[in-house]
Amino acid sequence: MTYEAIIGLEVHAQLLTKTKIFCGCSTEFGAPPNTHTCPVCLGMPGVLPVLNRKVVDYTIRMALATNCTIARESRFARKNYFYPDLPKGYQISQYELPIAEHGHVFIEVNGKRSRIGITRIHMEEDAGKLIHYPYRPVSVVDFNRTGVPLIEIVSEPDMRTPEEAGAYLRQLRAILRYLEICDGNMEEGSFRCDANVSVRPAGTNTFGTRTELKNINSFKHVENALAYEIRRQEAVIEDGGKVVQETRLWDPAKGVSVSMRGKEEAHDYRYFPDPDLLPLVIDEGWVEEIRSTLPELPDAKKARFIQDYGLPSYDAGVLTSSRALADYFEACAKLFPEPKTVSNWIMGSLLAILKAENRTIEESPVSPERLAELLRLIDSGVISGKIAKTVFDEVASSGKAPETIIREKGLVQITDAKAITEVVKRVLTEHPKEVSAYRGGKTKVFGFFVGQVMKATGGNANPKTVNEILKGMLQG
Ligand SMILES: [Zn+2]
Repeated sequence: MTYEAIIGLEVHAQLLTKTKIFCGCSTEFGAPPNTHTCPVCLGMPGVLPVLNRKVVDYTIRMALATNCTIARESRFARKNYFYPDLPKGYQISQYELPIAEHGHVFIEVNGKRSRIGITRIHMEEDAGKLIHYPYRPVSVVDFNRTGVPLIEIVSEPDMRTPEEAGAYLRQLRAILRYLEICDGNMEEGSFRCDANVSVRPAGTNTFGTRTELKNINSFKHVENALAYEIRRQEAVIEDGGKVVQETRLWDPAKGVSVSMRGKEEAHDYRYFPDPDLLPLVIDEGWVEEIRSTLPELPDAKKARFIQDYGLPSYDAGVLTSSRALADYFEACAKLFPEPKTVSNWIMGSLLAILKAENRTIEESPVSPERLAELLRLIDSGVISGKIAKTVFDEVASSGKAPETIIREKGLVQITDAKAITEVVKRVLTEHPKEVSAYRGGKTKVFGFFVGQVMKATGGNANPKTVNEILKGMLQG
């Protein structure tokens, strides 16, 4: 039997506000433990939370960017549970009336475009952080993160493969980064993902029992964890067993998921409206004001890159994966208006260097101006494309201008026909056997002559001119 997987994701994104959601404490990462705290986020008796307006602003941004309907009135609720990292004994979240619902985004996997529904987006506060000492029976808690604003983005169960889940996550992260409301750093925990997975016989419509996967903290792990869980559930069913509804923890080191606890139901949390917070009323004017300041989003930018620059869909997708990379491309294409050539250099040499040096595009050692200068030098025949690669690496490591490097290293391409003719003459005189072989019909040795000429000129001869002169002289 073949199976089909049903995947839905719950994503928590930490918002880049300066202060926490219900108090004025700083959200800055990396401060000494328990220094960014106050009576409100420590849950002292008698304190009152005050909603941070910026959190609402950022959430509306994400909701609009993912085509959600914004609720005119939403509410905060208390989600009650006990855990040492939760000083109040409840988390303030949104439950029955979230701020946004019914959205969607589009993803593309292997050229196939799919619409992924977004059930809801709501605001909530983060919990603190427990640190467990490995060699002592002691755990300590840091409340700096308590009350840091999060949005939870819940998808519909619209994904069918681990690759689609990965593409959806990347799309959400790209949108959050375009909006500049979340840094999207999965390893550092500012972008987290829990996955709900079930399998069913292909072609059927009922949902199987699902499990929830937690602790997936990198893009690579998402796809691995889902692939493992899908195989595990299929094996359970094949063996005549039943999948148990539970929460499972992904162990990236062992590459397996292990049962953590039975899945809790919503009623286990005893949700109720938070009496300390008024219903949140959002007027249409505010929403429209925010809508008018939204940047061009990844999908729109990609479509424009295809349309205006004539780029293939793949190139446009890579170049618009981040706003900074797209800006880099556009800056360069403006200076050197051959978009496909610019795209090739960015996607090839530039991204390779950034990856090797673990840098972001913002930290690129080659500016758009330098890259454009280099492309102009190739275009005008001063250097060959091959030499340009060497120059590019040198620009990246030294920060010098391409022209300076070419001058210092004597890399100027030899286009002077007279000079090349001299070299060709010498090569032919030195290899009489090959010359007669060529003239006797063995045209394959032509490549040998080209190689000899290039070698004699240190690779600097213009290949096109070399070909023309060689052909002429071998025939003559
Ligand atoms: Zn505080």
